[in-house]
Formats: sequence, C-alpha cells, structure tokens
Amino acid sequence: MSDTIFTKIIAGDIPSHKVYEDDKVFAFLDINPLSPGHTLVIPKEPAKTLDVLSDESSAAIGRALPRIARAVMAATGTDQYNILQNNGPRAHQAVFHVHFHIIPKTDGGSGLGVGWKPGNLDSVEGSALALRIAEAITN
Ligand code: 5GP
Repeated sequence: MSDTIFTKIIAGDIPSHKVYEDDKVFAFLDINPLSPGHTLVIPKEPAKTLDVLSDESSAAIGRALPRIARAVMAATGTDQYNILQNNGPRAHQAVFHVHFHIIPKTDGGSGLGVGWKPGNLDSVEGSALALRIAEAITN
C-alpha cells in the first residue's frame, strides 16, 4: 500500500471540501465534478482496490455510503444518481486509493455517461462461470 493524494487529503495536508468523516471513512467533493454534488467516499485505509480492502473498512463504507448518498440527494435536490467505483487503470482508476463516486444525475442530463454494450449470457457457460466464482469466494 502506498500513499496517494487521498492520504494527504485525509490528513488535511491538501485542502478538500469535506462532507463527512468518522474513524474509518472520509468523504469530500470531487475536484472535477461530473455534476454538482459529485462526492468521493473513501476508506481511511489506503487500499488500492476494493478487493484488498479489509472487512472492517468495507463494513464502515457500506454503512456510510447510503447515508452520504441521501445527504447528496437532499442537498442537490436530485432523486437520481450513480455510484461508480473503478479498480485498475484499464477500468478508469486514476487515484490508487479505493473510492466510491456518488454522481448526481441532473434533470438536464449531466452526471455519469455510461457506454454499456451488453452481450448475451450463454446458459452453459454461465453455469460453469457462476460455479467458478462461487467456489472462489472466501470468508
Ligand atoms: P477515478 O478515475 O480514479 O475513479 O477518480 C478519481 C477522482 O479523483 C477523479 O474524479 C478526480 O477528479 C478526483 N481527484 C483527483 N485528485 C483530486 C484532488 O486533489 N482533490 C479532489 N477533491 N478530487 C480529486
């Protein structure tokens, strides 16, 4: 685990517009918002990607995220929003410290644009794949 700009933001060494903090979670406005109220929710633990985040920090994020989403909705007046969480450079992760984006979708359409090109799930391949994933889940 290595320090990123988010470590410095948590420490207050780099200023941010903080909206929430507890012992495990920090949240602040994104410096380049896709829409007003675009907020980043991060664990204080400096894990690079979600799959290596501790259970304790994961639980704390899970508790805080809906609360902060409700507050963003109340403050911006939006009733629709996306949660985005990128892992790895090919998946558009630019800062290697786990973060969840809360991105309000405005009436005018600003917010997250999604290029979604769905395929079709083959049932035989799907059965094998679901089994491989299920067997790989650890506690
Ligand atoms: P990613 O592409 O890694 O999911 O998103 C990283 C986000 O962090 C971007 O939306 C970017 O605007 C935001 N960001 C990067 N540096 C800073 C910063 O110094 N301050 C704030 N508030 N946001 C930042």
